[in-house]
Amino acid sequence: MIIDVDRLPKEGLKIAKDFEFFSEALIEDNAVFLQPVHAELKVTKIGEEIFIKGKITSCLSFVCSRCLVPFEFPVDSNYDLVYIPEEIEGMKEHLEDGDAHKLFYYSSKIDIEEVVLEQLNLVFPPKPLCSEDCQGICPVCGKIIQSSDCACETKSSDPRLDKLKSFRRDKR
Ligand SMILES: [Zn+2]
Ligand SMILES: [Zn+2]
Repeated sequence: MIIDVDRLPKEGLKIAKDFEFFSEALIEDNAVFLQPVHAELKVTKIGEEIFIKGKITSCLSFVCSRCLVPFEFPVDSNYDLVYIPEEIEGMKEHLEDGDAHKLFYYSSKIDIEEVVLEQLNLVFPPKPLCSEDCQGICPVCGKIIQSSDCACETKSSDPRLDKLKSFRRDKR
């Protein structure tokens, strides 16, 4: 979905649309879409600058980087972007300090699908985790440490449990 910024209505353009992306387009290797990406955005032009403000919602399945179990990753993210025409890129020295984060558009066109995909990829964690305290896979038995499958000694790093064990031993 490409918009021509020269033809934007004065009051701006409101878009609400579902996008279907291939998981190959994602920076996360093992991600699978559980629902389409719903994007709501408002595009306005002030001078040569294009302002895109909106939100994306979706839900994906990620694979935990510690225990390798798939988990749901809901996306609900807001963004606020400023695009300037590429002609200005060549005159970067003329840009003010506050302009450093600005994006460029080319030939008066902005591909909304690309914008949404980029914002989606920015939301992804570098190492997805099913939960912050996921302990991953047991180095002894190869099972998930927090599951009942793993009964290895390495599991009890809790000092209270260690105390209990030595107490039981003393009783014998
Ligand atoms: Zn995990
Ligand atoms: Zn184990």
